[in-house]
Amino acid sequence: ALYQPADVSKPCCVRVNTLKSDVDCALRELGKQFTVRKDDIVPDLLILPPHTDLHNHPLVLNGSAFLQGKASSMVAAVLAPKPGWEVLDACSAPGNKTVHLAALMGGKGKIIACELNKDRIKRLEDTVRLSGATNIEIRHGDFLNLNPRDSSFSKIRAILLDPSCSGSGTAAQRLDHLLPSHATDVTDTERLNKLSAFQKKALAHALSFPAVERVVYSTCSVNQIENEDVIISVLPLAASHGFQLVTPFPQWHRRGLPVFEGSEHLLRTDPIEDHEGFFIALFVKKSSINDSEE
Ligand code: SAM
Repeated sequence: ALYQPADVSKPCCVRVNTLKSDVDCALRELGKQFTVRKDDIVPDLLILPPHTDLHNHPLVLNGSAFLQGKASSMVAAVLAPKPGWEVLDACSAPGNKTVHLAALMGGKGKIIACELNKDRIKRLEDTVRLSGATNIEIRHGDFLNLNPRDSSFSKIRAILLDPSCSGSGTAAQRLDHLLPSHATDVTDTERLNKLSAFQKKALAHALSFPAVERVVYSTCSVNQIENEDVIISVLPLAASHGFQLVTPFPQWHRRGLPVFEGSEHLLRTDPIEDHEGFFIALFVKKSSINDSEE
């Protein structure tokens, strides 16, 4: 596959960790050195000019702020867990969205963070430590092997599922279209089919936890097979459990590919126009839909 370098015009995004700081404080602090504004959609996200290097900024080094893209920061905000809830992050390392959940819950309640890859657990632990969250329980294992009937999951009200994906929407943009068509990579197709099969299983599994009211599914892929097709595959199951698709950030203009009735509920970001390609879907149990989500 061919790649081009990361988008040079991509703004620098920083998510304020409200467990350690607050948005106005961080805005003032960063404003001493940089041009900075609040994001128009994600309440705890600040936007700085492209090329701003915050890697060694004290707010980042001490965990008051995390370098996290806009689309990535939308996911936990869409799940919107309440303080005191029990929440499951199904595929969690390196933990950016896990600690965002903890911040949105004001450190109250419990988050179970599941991760299959042992090597990535260390990064997850580091992220959790840096965030200052004390209500995150890390579980090393396969999300598909968690038994929804196990008593430790009986109060899980929300699940964030951000499974392994092709990453086709992220910084290095694929230039496969410049290759002659006969060079289309068969192993790529196989890989996508495998990823999609896992994503479908994992989403169906998430929807089967008995007390779950909200499930958010996200990828940093632009491929229909990892996005809309995964959603289509679980629609009958979701309906049988009383879930419906709800529109995350209705003011966002870019929605799902029009491949089924209801795809306007899905959210997409574009790898060029929005600087990264993401996909987000939100399922909510009909009985727990709030007024703003009707
Ligand atoms: N949500 C994370 C964040 O924002 O920092 C990124 C998650 S990454 C896209 C997907 C993660 O899922 C990887 O760390 C991968 O090792 C893990 N994973 C893959 N298959 C899994 C499974 N069956 N059970 C649990 N975790 C899995």
